Amino acid sequence: MLLCCMKTIKDVLLSFKNNLQNLYSYNEALAIAMLVLEDLTGMQRSRLKAFEQDELSGEILEKIYPILEELKTGKPVQYILGTAEFYGLTFLVNPATLIPRPETEELVEWILASKKSKVQETISVLDIGTGTGCIAVSLKKHLNNAWLSAIDISEQALNTARKNANLNQVDVSFIQGDILNIKQDHELSGNQFDVIVSNPPYVTGTDKVLMHSNVLNFEPHAALFVTDDEPLLFYKAIVRFALNSLKIGGELYFEINEAFGKEMVDLLTNNYFKDIELKKDLTGRDRMIKAVKF
Ligand code: GLN
Repeated sequence: MLLCCMKTIKDVLLSFKNNLQNLYSYNEALAIAMLVLEDLTGMQRSRLKAFEQDELSGEILEKIYPILEELKTGKPVQYILGTAEFYGLTFLVNPATLIPRPETEELVEWILASKKSKVQETISVLDIGTGTGCIAVSLKKHLNNAWLSAIDISEQALNTARKNANLNQVDVSFIQGDILNIKQDHELSGNQFDVIVSNPPYVTGTDKVLMHSNVLNFEPHAALFVTDDEPLLFYKAIVRFALNSLKIGGELYFEINEAFGKEMVDLLTNNYFKDIELKKDLTGRDRMIKAVKF
């Protein structure tokens, strides 16, 4: 029996490493084991490390075994535990929602850096393709006076996003809608937003072949993929929509595919946006772009 001899925290960490080595690097397996142990024991990572030799109770060991089995199928740990951390907050996640990514935290950070001095102003912000609601909820958490709206095509994702707003005790107005087919006279149109932000699907067929199986087999394809012949499909629709719904001087923020920085600059320039800024993520890849409506 796999876990017959697992007793200490250290044994569990080693077992995760050995059982997941076909799927994850040593450091990834360790990080996953830590997330599971934090969740089951309620202990923080630093404490778990300091008390590596401590024995785990039979009750906890019984729960770890099925989790490890699920992990071996490639299922992301966040879907197994049902939660993910984003910008210091906890978000519910499920297969209807993309798991929030660290690069998206950098996008939130960028918006907050530009808006925090105006924390007392009542600004109006829209997040397009909100998924878990991670962008909208974390922005609202830090911009008390802002009005936050968020749209998504998936009702299932919106249900999760609503729960996440409640969980983190913020008000966000969630609206179901398809940004590719949004009407000119939609309730979200009409020069009302100071900020529009989006992390739309941007992974192309070419990128797809390089993707880790746990993303490919478990995360919602509608939130990830575009075809090779229309890689900017969502960006074009959102830029069109933003021309109609941002205030003059309003800001548009996108997370982008690292391969399309130049094309994004061109798209925004051709649509008369100004002050266009392309920004790299912590790994040095073109990952975000910001522009101001003229
Ligand atoms: N950054 C995500 C990934 O590489 C993609 C997010 C998206 O398509 N918006 O998995």
